[in-house]
Order: sequence, then structure tokens, then C-alpha cells
Amino acid sequence: MIETYDGIILARREIGENGCYIDVLTDEKGLIEASAHGVKKINSPLLSSAALFSYATFSFSHNKTRYTVNSARPKYSFHKLGEDIDKLALASYFAQAVRACTPTEQNQLEERRGSVVRFLAIALFETLRAGEERSLEAVKAAFELRYSMILGFAPDLVACHNCGKYECERGMLFLPRKSKLVCAECFNPDFEGERVMLLPETLFAMRNIVFSPPERCFKFTVREQAVKQLAAIAEDYFLYRAERTFTALEYYKKLRGAL
Ligand SMILES: [Zn+2]
Repeated sequence: MIETYDGIILARREIGENGCYIDVLTDEKGLIEASAHGVKKINSPLLSSAALFSYATFSFSHNKTRYTVNSARPKYSFHKLGEDIDKLALASYFAQAVRACTPTEQNQLEERRGSVVRFLAIALFETLRAGEERSLEAVKAAFELRYSMILGFAPDLVACHNCGKYECERGMLFLPRKSKLVCAECFNPDFEGERVMLLPETLFAMRNIVFSPPERCFKFTVREQAVKQLAAIAEDYFLYRAERTFTALEYYKKLRGAL
């Protein structure tokens, strides 16, 4: 049976001299592990489409439990990520995180908010573009917070959970374990547990990440101090929900001198 899906390659393992296994993220079937033959031959039509981060329309032969790639029509090439080691490391973290959080051969469209494939393509595109309008740290934070939301862990950032105020002169606090906001007037230090007093710009960025359509969720500009705060909040929030850490994240942080 032939099946065709848009997907992004999240991992690749070599087999023999000319073949490989690829893990492809799709919306319709979650993660698909497929074999691709002859991909290292210079005249192979799959040469570029079977590369890591390749975003393409893949046509698979599906035979009981095995998938084989027949052909692939490229949609966008992220091969330039390979020219910048920091960007490549960040993209690898995104791929590892999505691979770990996506079940095999299960439809991802029903309960999730929108297409995961499209979201990851946007995240990789913004990683490529980072350095122009916003830093890699801002892209990373937007990915972590928005992907938490896609996984069903959206923080409630509409207003103070207690009084309903959208903003407060004395400031707003984020309660990361309770996934909600509370204003400084309602905040009770005895009951709230972990909390972060948010810079107004940080809250603006968090709301943009969570409430914008996917193509806008990376597009915000805040000062470095707010990016730092946002980065710490987003990473902690995502890892706490994912209940694990990622080797690719540790590597990225080592490269960026954060460890
Ligand atoms: Zn309040």
C-alpha cells in the first residue's frame, strides 16, 4: 500500500553501504520509522530528501509493520543549519524533544492544536534566521513554551488567576508549577510555591508565544534582560512537563557557555 504524508526527518541511522533508517515526523501517523535504499548514491533521487531535517512530501510503501520510502518531494531545505554549529545544536534539540514526545504511528491532529509538522518547520526556519531580529535564546524559549502548549500543557496567561486583572502596577508573578499568573496584590507567599516576578516585557513575550497563530509565535522583540528571564522560565517549564532532559540540550548549552 502506498501512503503519502508531509513530514520532517528527525533522526537518521545508517544501514549497510547505501541505505538508512529515517524517523519521520508526520501529523497523520506520528513518528514513522522507514527504510530508505540507495540514498548515498550520487544519482539517488532521495540523496537530499533523506537528510536530517529534510521537510518533504514523502511517499511510503507500507507493508504490515514496515515502511519504505519510495520518493520524496522536497518542500523546504534546512541544510544551511549545518553551516552554524550553534544553530545545528539547537535544531538537534528540537528534533530530539519532538521525537521523544511523539508516539509512533498515531494520528497527531485530533487532540493537538494544529499541525506539529508545520510548527516544527516554523521553529527550524526561525532557527535559521536567528541573529537578524532575535537571538537563538528567544527562538529556543518560544519553541519550549509553545511546544508545551501543543503537548497539552498551556499556561494560563490571560490574567491574574485570582482577581482577573490583565496587568498590575505592582507587577505580575508567574507560578510555573501551577501554570498560572497572579498579580502582586493577590499574591500570597505562604501558599503559592515557586514563583517568578515577571518583567513586563517577559509577560508580553510569553503571551505572544502562547496566543499567536503558529507563524507569529516566534515573532516578538524584547530586550536582553527579558530574553534571559524568558529563557529560564521556558526551559524549566518544558523540562518539568517533559519529565526529562535531553542530551542535545546539554550539548547546546555547553556550546553557548551556559553550563
Ligand atoms: Zn490579582
